[in-house]
Amino acid sequence: MARALKIVVYSGNDSSIWLRALRSALPEAEVEIWSAAAAAEADYGVVWKPASEVVPSFRRAKAIFNLGAGVDAIPGIGQVLPGAPVIRLHDAGMAEQMIEYVAHAALRCYREVDAYAAQQREALWRARPRKSKREFVIGVLGAGVLDTAVAVGLAALKFPVRVWSRSRKDIAGVASFAGDSELPPFLAETRFLVCLLPLTRDTANLLDRARLTLLPQGAYVVNVARGALIVDADLLALLDEGHLAGAILDVFRDEPLPAGHPFWHHPRITLTPHISAATLVQESVDQIAGKIRRLDAGFPVTGIVDRDRGY
Ligand code: NAP
Repeated sequence: MARALKIVVYSGNDSSIWLRALRSALPEAEVEIWSAAAAAEADYGVVWKPASEVVPSFRRAKAIFNLGAGVDAIPGIGQVLPGAPVIRLHDAGMAEQMIEYVAHAALRCYREVDAYAAQQREALWRARPRKSKREFVIGVLGAGVLDTAVAVGLAALKFPVRVWSRSRKDIAGVASFAGDSELPPFLAETRFLVCLLPLTRDTANLLDRARLTLLPQGAYVVNVARGALIVDADLLALLDEGHLAGAILDVFRDEPLPAGHPFWHHPRITLTPHISAATLVQESVDQIAGKIRRLDAGFPVTGIVDRDRGY
């Protein structure tokens, strides 16, 4: 009798949720929670935030699936287990959530919801001069799966939208900026900056004082990617100096955000606990199960991480 396909899952305290969902999506497979012995026999690994010994333990695996879009939490992603492709989640229900989060933030800033809330507290009935939509340029850093979905979603609300990526894109209704040389002109007219880049050696600390200063006076910054893309102290300084009007942050260098971090009580910062786009169990497992079946039948799959670029 042929040996059953073996899948081993590592996802901290959530491992048993993923175990049940994978067993139900792949009834023909043997699915186990990670141990070094189980991983050594696994055909596929499924991981989230693996400890450093986890990925190398999948010695004979044909692929490692990452339970998220970003692979920055895989230690040594550049060189670990070079023979097995690392496959990340490709949307899996996250794009819709990301559009909701960013569209809400954009409309809140553009329609000055906070200013009207302050007026209500003063019982003040006063229409504010309407902001020009043509000048409320939205710039999305990144033009991949989630970034493009967000850009297209905001363009549908008739905002002028631009994206910045490594390579040039052709997205209907969205202007494309590409490469390091086009970042300054991209930032110079962006009034509402959305950071959706992967965290890599090239993007860490990208949004420092010099680059954030290129944004026009009164711009807003939204970070829904990874905290380490922004230099916290530089963001705080530019908010305090009034160069930036506000920041909406869902991700942080250290999570949970430490008690006492100045972001918690800053009047120009709104923060949420990394909820802009949650990993949805059913959608993710359906995607992974489909890819395992394709790989096992010898077909190619999408979502393979370029180890050298780090995304
Ligand atoms: P993706 O499809 O890989 O897209 C990444 C984009 O970033 C690509 O367009 C890429 O350019 C661009 N890029 C990467 N490095 C660059 C550089 N050095 N210069 C210019 N552009 C660069 O990723 P995704 O699926 O959209 O996800 C994006 C990120 O969102 C993830 O990595 C993750 O960190 C974050 N995320 C956060 C949450 C949350 O809940 N907050 C949820 C899911 C994901 P090219 O197209 O030219 O390669």
